[in-house]
Amino acid sequence: MNQLKAMHRTFILVVSLLFFTVAASAQSHNSVYQVSTINALLQGVYDGETTMKDLKKFGNFGIGTFEGLDGEMVALDGKFYQVKSTGEVILVNDQMKTPFANVMNFHPDLTGEISNAKTFAELEKALDSIIKDKNYIYAIRIDGVFTGETRSIPGKTKPYPSLTDAAKTQSVFNIQDTKGTIVGFLCPQYVNGINVPGYHLHFISDDRKSGGHILKGGIESGKVQISRVTDFRMVLPSSDSFQQASLNQDYSKELSKVEQSK
Ligand code: ZN
Repeated sequence: MNQLKAMHRTFILVVSLLFFTVAASAQSHNSVYQVSTINALLQGVYDGETTMKDLKKFGNFGIGTFEGLDGEMVALDGKFYQVKSTGEVILVNDQMKTPFANVMNFHPDLTGEISNAKTFAELEKALDSIIKDKNYIYAIRIDGVFTGETRSIPGKTKPYPSLTDAAKTQSVFNIQDTKGTIVGFLCPQYVNGINVPGYHLHFISDDRKSGGHILKGGIESGKVQISRVTDFRMVLPSSDSFQQASLNQDYSKELSKVEQSK
């Protein structure tokens, strides 16, 4: 009888441990790590804050930029790429730093198919039909055939210009019928000032020869994977430029001008 009780207790313990393991991993699945704020980037706070070596500890998937606003970052399947303003795509080295990035360990909890979403508006609409509840941040991965325009901004030197001025020097790449992956996030309006409300998507081709921040265009056909984010961690720079930047204003108009060309 005592032996049976002991077995019963062991069983309960094992079940509890299993439950906590599942609960813990479910939580770590959808945790986004962010460096700095979008308003800081808009105000020209481009000092490198976090090294790629450190950023990689917080995820295998994400987007961002580099010190001096030097190109677009795409992190996919644990590999971190820099899409340079020359169009060249390289694997980053661990010493490179970012002034703004979002990364996470990507585990999809929603999947779908998209076809004939050739403009950015159609792509947004197609994603909107999959993502019903807009009160969360969502990480988005689309593997498919992309046609559209991407950009990358050449690195800046101090004194840093605002993002609006920096974006005037951007290189725009025309990408046609190219197999690859869209990596990005959908954020609710309430992140205004912290991140980009709406869809913020980057692209990288399968051959790793083209990519960038998507300005326009969409997907002919593709597989969508989406992860709902319920945990958000933001790390703020301690630099003088961050401390002195004017961050408590509404820059949503400036932001929407540099994000997409609809
Ligand atoms: Zn971007």
